[in-house]
Amino acid sequence: MRSLEQVLADGIRDIPDYPQEGVVFKDITPLLADHTGFGQVVEALAAFGTDDDGNPAVDKVVGIEARGFILAAPVALALGAGFVPVRKKGKLPSATYEESYALEYGEATIEVHQDAFAPGDRVLVIDDVLATGGTVEACLRLIRRCGAEVAGTAVLLELSFLPGRKRLDGEQVGALLTV
Ligand code: AMP
Repeated sequence: MRSLEQVLADGIRDIPDYPQEGVVFKDITPLLADHTGFGQVVEALAAFGTDDDGNPAVDKVVGIEARGFILAAPVALALGAGFVPVRKKGKLPSATYEESYALEYGEATIEVHQDAFAPGDRVLVIDDVLATGGTVEACLRLIRRCGAEVAGTAVLLELSFLPGRKRLDGEQVGALLTV
């Protein structure tokens, strides 16, 4: 079996100047197409939702639209937890809470269903890339507004030249790979 490091090196490719000049987009589609590698990644992400004995310790796993969905749904199944989508504004059909955050140009808004969590639910948040941390930070605010508890956040890849981890100071944030 390949190491997790090798799986990630094989499966994440750099696409320069996408979606705009100067940005190096981290494309995870090769990883998703590699079923053994995808399985290893799901197992490694799920480990962030377990206790010291390796037993599942979360009630819900949140996936952030859109690539977070792909990773979070199998992690939720692996942990025996429910899956909750956090979506871009205007996509969820029932009553929502929303949180906005600054982008380099403009603002983005994400939403969650108000009834997505039971009070006190322990929640693991999953996304593909941690960049400035604005998306995860807004997501944690949403979860807490719903009366649920953030158990931690796990990402495939952390971009350490951006201030994501600093912005999430005091939060539990795990990354399978840091570049
Ligand atoms: P941020 O809020 O800046 O931490 O950005 C995180 C969100 O933007 C994640 O949902 C990522 O999917 C996406 N993202 C940011 N930077 C990149 C990148 N270089 N490559 C791929 N996705 C990215």
